Amino acid sequence: MTDFDLHHHISTRMTGIYNLNVGESPPNGYFSAGIHPNLMMDFSEDQFDWLKEISKHERCLAIGECGLDGLIKVDDDLQEELFVRQIELANDRNKPLLIHCVRRFSQIIHFKKIAEVPMIIHGFNKRKTIADELQKHDFYLSFGKSVLQNVNLQEFVKGFPPEKLFLETDGRNFNIELLYQKVADLKNMTLENLQLQIQQNLKIFNISH
Ligand SMILES: [Zn+2]
Repeated sequence: MTDFDLHHHISTRMTGIYNLNVGESPPNGYFSAGIHPNLMMDFSEDQFDWLKEISKHERCLAIGECGLDGLIKVDDDLQEELFVRQIELANDRNKPLLIHCVRRFSQIIHFKKIAEVPMIIHGFNKRKTIADELQKHDFYLSFGKSVLQNVNLQEFVKGFPPEKLFLETDGRNFNIELLYQKVADLKNMTLENLQLQIQQNLKIFNISH
């Protein structure tokens, strides 16, 4: 069984979800498409038109990354407006949202109310208090390389419900098998049971082929 990589940036990788760049043609595998807050600096309506079209693609599994970022120089109102539009698009397409969030967790939780599809916070490596709040509001969390090093995060992963968990490499260059093994050890599960659980979690993507 392969180790599914929920969010990565390597277009030739076949196991997982490739984060498509705006305007890029789809890869041979699954992908997600969205307008990252970083791109909003030069946002144009053409980008949203592109997203509306590409999100109909059968291998487009999710809308994102999209979300809110408190550390970039893009106006909060513009970020929120485009985030809401992407939530509405995800609702229309019935595809989950892959969320990028930096220092805006309470706002993200607020916008969860309008989402009719699952929301996954990707690259989660924040404090337990934030994680508990997200868990309470039914978010999925996807963990990456930090779990290999961050002891507090390891402690949190131990108790995090396996049915809400995904794993990813994001832009980091490392072997995801290491992460699967680490998380299996932390959770006292066999590697096979962890893989099966994540396979099960992938049902939220309505992969039909
Ligand atoms: Zn990424």
